Amino acid sequence: AKGAGRNRFSYFTPALQVAALNRMRLTNDLRGAIRANQLRVYFQPIVHLRTGRIHKAEALVRWQHPQRGLVSPVDFIALAESSGLIVDIGEWMFRESARWARRWRGEHHPDFQVSVNQSPLEFQREGQAYDRWFAHMHDIGLEGAALVVEITEGLLLDASAGVTDKLLQLRDAGIQVALDDFGTGYSSLSYLKKFDIDYLKIDRSFTRNLAPQSSDMALSEAIIVMAHKLGLRVVAEGVETAEQRDLLLAAGCDYGQGYLFARPMPAEEFDALLRSQRVL
Ligand code: C2E
Ligand code: CA
Ligand code: CA
Ligand code: CA
Repeated sequence: AKGAGRNRFSYFTPALQVAALNRMRLTNDLRGAIRANQLRVYFQPIVHLRTGRIHKAEALVRWQHPQRGLVSPVDFIALAESSGLIVDIGEWMFRESARWARRWRGEHHPDFQVSVNQSPLEFQREGQAYDRWFAHMHDIGLEGAALVVEITEGLLLDASAGVTDKLLQLRDAGIQVALDDFGTGYSSLSYLKKFDIDYLKIDRSFTRNLAPQSSDMALSEAIIVMAHKLGLRVVAEGVETAEQRDLLLAAGCDYGQGYLFARPMPAEEFDALLRSQRVL
């Protein structure tokens, strides 16, 4: 057993070292990414299901790495969180989102909203983080209603005073809140009543399994009915087929987001799509 343990150890060590080194390099590169202008904001349309019109967009970060090419957030958000860089990335994403939101609302889409993601770490960090946001919004003349902050339900579970206070700050500024990835965690509807949440985003693992008369279909219908009773609008994520869209529509879902409508795209491309007013 001892020998096997040693073998296992020597087998894993090089791989672990390579992974650790890789992580270190990537973290180092990420540190310089903002200043080197390597971050990109992509937008994915959020479509009003009944009319097919684009009402909102979710801002999603990408990293244009000089050697690695376009890096997905899946490959660097965790690093950004553990290194604390997520705070700077979040700030950068907020500014970009605010800039584009102001433009689109000023150009024939007065109710347009841009949704920005916040990691629990960003959301919970100490200090008057949102003061800088609000000051910036004031500077560029953007109203709070232009923005939605997406948080995950784990945050609401450890309902510290800090979380409640931050949600109130957003509310006071007119910024709306969406509960992201609903259906993946504890998915208790009880805290939807307790906290002032505006949107429920049904996770794509749910959307994927939608079929007539399936249990996921019944569950989705129940979630949507309850969300509406509590005054929330519902966004379904990961809508990939026309059948999924039709089932969601029949279940009373308000909005859809997914490859059926469009993949996330560079800001300029989204800008052109919105101008074309094409119904998706
Ligand atoms: P998320 O917030 O759940 O974002 C939705 C993800 O689903 C995006 O992945 C999007 O490209 C993908 N998606 C959209 N429609 C479909 C579909 O029809 N099928 C499938 N298979 N996927 C679809 P993305 O852009 O790779 O982002 C991954 C995650 O990274 C996000 O998940 C979010 O948790 C995080 N993230 C992205 N941008 C930011 C950011 O600016 N700040 C923070 N804190 N996290 C971010
Ligand atoms: Ca999200
Ligand atoms: Ca999500
Ligand atoms: Ca997710």
